[in-house]
Amino acid sequence: MEKKYPYQQLLERVNNSSDITPKNKAGLNDFLKNEHPGDVLFTKWTEPPIIEKGKCARVWDVDGKEYIDCIGGFSSMNIGHGDERVAKVIYDQYIKLSHWFDFPTPERLKLVKRLIDITPGDYKKKVRLALSGSDAVEIAIRTARNYTKKTHIISFYGAYHGQNIATIGITGAGSMHRWYNPIPAADHCIERFPYAYCYRCVYGKEYPGCDMHCVKAIDMIMSSTQTSLGNPYTKINNVAAMIVEPMQSSSGYIVPPREFLVELRKLADKYGFMLIFDEIQAGMGRTGKMFAAEHSGVAPDITIIGKALGGGVPMSAIVARAEYFDEMTPGYIVSTYAGYALGCAASNKVLDIFEEDDLLNKVTETGKHLEKVIEDYKNRHPVVGTYSQIGVYFGIEYVMDRKTKEPAPAFTMELVDTLRTEGLLAQMNGYHNNRISFVPPLVITKKDVDDIFAIMNRITEKLEKKYNII
Ligand code: PMP
Repeated sequence: MEKKYPYQQLLERVNNSSDITPKNKAGLNDFLKNEHPGDVLFTKWTEPPIIEKGKCARVWDVDGKEYIDCIGGFSSMNIGHGDERVAKVIYDQYIKLSHWFDFPTPERLKLVKRLIDITPGDYKKKVRLALSGSDAVEIAIRTARNYTKKTHIISFYGAYHGQNIATIGITGAGSMHRWYNPIPAADHCIERFPYAYCYRCVYGKEYPGCDMHCVKAIDMIMSSTQTSLGNPYTKINNVAAMIVEPMQSSSGYIVPPREFLVELRKLADKYGFMLIFDEIQAGMGRTGKMFAAEHSGVAPDITIIGKALGGGVPMSAIVARAEYFDEMTPGYIVSTYAGYALGCAASNKVLDIFEEDDLLNKVTETGKHLEKVIEDYKNRHPVVGTYSQIGVYFGIEYVMDRKTKEPAPAFTMELVDTLRTEGLLAQMNGYHNNRISFVPPLVITKKDVDDIFAIMNRITEKLEKKYNII
């Protein structure tokens, strides 16, 4: 039998579908023939739309269908699509100076100072700018290893920190490792521990009576002789840093208890390793604070920012204790477009907009409304096992049975797919492919929230019947 590549199977699916509208179908054909599809598109929807334009929290596909956008460029479009203030700054900056290699420009000097001011940590900081989240995480890890002269990095199951060769090792998603093996030798120096995903605590504990056992377990292991992280008896300590998402995003928008970061900070201080917070997805206002870690009142040693910083143009940043960068000889990190004037100007405007529009308070207000609506949604639908929500950061977990917590991945996939046909774009993810995360632009209104849950309630009930859950 003739070998069929996965893309050819997808093409067949697209071309056999009677539901895909003509321009979407033509676009998907071109796409699958000419590009390598990323992870998200076809694993989340059977028939992904080709999005042509966006405004605020809405997007439209090439056949003119309107959607409420709960993907938001994967948490990049926090200020909303099509903001004319950013567009004007980008235009003006392009005419003035778009880019002139890795040298300071006035916009860059201004942005760096602002990043120092807004990130948690009352200590002297320095910044390095980059383009993608993966770039920034790689730089943070290199910085930690260079400064401490140690090798090991602690990360968490369920974490997503990037997909390049340097970051794949600390990303917790095994399905991705499958594609990248063999991962480089340096990344064998990585130990992953369970995240504070309390609904499915791997230690069988229940919060709040658990005494944060997930952090205690790391301590128990680190204080033993049975780990490559070190040996307290022979005074070996191999750990350069721990990298953690203050809220775990790509695994399903999981909000850990407040004490999680507090206890991790204590652990970092006890063992003398750096604490790196990856705020690439949960940061930039999504939770109602500029950075998610602020809800715990904990400052890391390095904050990594990405995605929404540039408001739609690639920008990322590593904000670290000054001495970490001081230790490096100049030129240790260099990249052609890093800190480009256009990206810095856009980022400065994004930060202005947070102030001009009082965005953080608006997110908190929308979040309060969302809290009521989502609780009501849970009460109506036994298929909802649990949910996490803070500001407009929210994820919902679906189960076949609330008692056994049996995951409901087929239900979740069908729900996400049906929501798409009903004009709502959200993502399926989760440790068991049974969560949906909602990542709308921060400018969604209470009315948008009501519209989202009107669709959600209707479709969820329909599918609950189909799956014999009610
Ligand atoms: N860290 C986190 C928390 C992320 O969510 C992502 C992207 N989803 C990354 C790192 C990697 O960013 P990028 O895709 O821009 O390389």
